[in-house]
Amino acid sequence: MNKKRITTIFIVLLLGFGLYRSHTATVSSVPHTETGYMIGTVVNITVYGDYDDDIFDKSFDIIRDIESKMSLNIDTSELNEINANAGIHPVAVSESTFDVIERSLYHSKVSDGAFDISAGSLVSLWQIGSDKASIPPAEALADAIDTIDYKNIWLNRDSLEVFLKEEGMIIDVGGIAKGYAADRVGEYLSSRGVERAIVDAGGDIYLLGKGSNGGPWKIGVKDPFTSSRNDYLGIVSATQPSIVTSGVYERFLEIEGDDTVYHHILDPKTGYPVQNDIQGVTIVSDSTMDSDGFSTSVFVLGLEEGMKLVESTDNVEAIFVMDSKEVYVSSGLRGLFELTSDEFTMAEL
Ligand code: FAD
Ligand code: MG
Repeated sequence: MNKKRITTIFIVLLLGFGLYRSHTATVSSVPHTETGYMIGTVVNITVYGDYDDDIFDKSFDIIRDIESKMSLNIDTSELNEINANAGIHPVAVSESTFDVIERSLYHSKVSDGAFDISAGSLVSLWQIGSDKASIPPAEALADAIDTIDYKNIWLNRDSLEVFLKEEGMIIDVGGIAKGYAADRVGEYLSSRGVERAIVDAGGDIYLLGKGSNGGPWKIGVKDPFTSSRNDYLGIVSATQPSIVTSGVYERFLEIEGDDTVYHHILDPKTGYPVQNDIQGVTIVSDSTMDSDGFSTSVFVLGLEEGMKLVESTDNVEAIFVMDSKEVYVSSGLRGLFELTSDEFTMAEL
């Protein structure tokens, strides 16, 4: 074979490879974002670098699958089946649903019940975030509180069964499953060879790979006092893959002549939206599901108790934004959080 022939074959092979790739992959030097509306929120997936063209659709399918299993708004979901059989019999579920419920119990234990997925009866009474939201009668709230106790959730990992021991119990994974969904999509993207991506499931963020220049990702912490999602009060250098914020500024009910903000983070002990001086809590950790769980539990616990929980848990960090516009950060974030708005001040406990 002469030299010219070898070169021609090589070029044909390269062209063939290029054509094959052009059907299945996009070679990109700029980040590409696709947006979907699911699990009651806006999901943005941003991929940096080259990607196979089907990965966005498949990523959204992963979240839709989680929604079909865990939504209370879908009649056939596994969660609704568990709830319908409360006090009757155990229900076998998928590993995904089991994993979320099991991890929820960890969050209940470490927060002494401040986080409790069996608060579902309260969530459905208040309906905060929907146009049916209203203040429930005190008697109904008292009845709902009686059904809340995570210790009455029975699990069997071998058979993947879940049993709510008391009739009337309702579990709701709204405080943790968005984070789970972000983790699953992040893992999927990684398995498809994506090296850098941001999965943002309604503010529950999973970061795949390193930030620009190979360093930590720089993520803005939202200013809870403005309605714009793009106004930041500071920037975190995220050295861990997940960052999640729970706040009271997006889902709430306002009553004329009443100054109280009736928001969606409920105190399982009182039955009412938590009333404390926190506007928002941001958690940084290694798992978006855990950051989601902690952002809710730490909010319920308040600044002092919440900070204690964070400081006593390895690899979990927090930023508290208070009504006073003071900002508290846990010890592991000192030097990694920078205030960018002069309306806020740093404070220490
Ligand atoms: P977080 O602080 O993370 O969670 C607050 C939520 O946790 C509350 O809304 C409540 O559900 C629950 N909660 C409240 N108090 C407690 C407590 N003490 N312990 C434990 N949990 C508590 N929203 C819609 O409007 N329409 C939908 O169709 C819809 N479908 C969904 C399907 C799924 C599978 C999931 C996970 C959520 C769905 N949502 C839906 C809810 C929506 O996305 C919520 O905004 C979200 O789950 C709340 O997240 P957050 O980050 O704002 O607040
Ligand atoms: Mg949460």
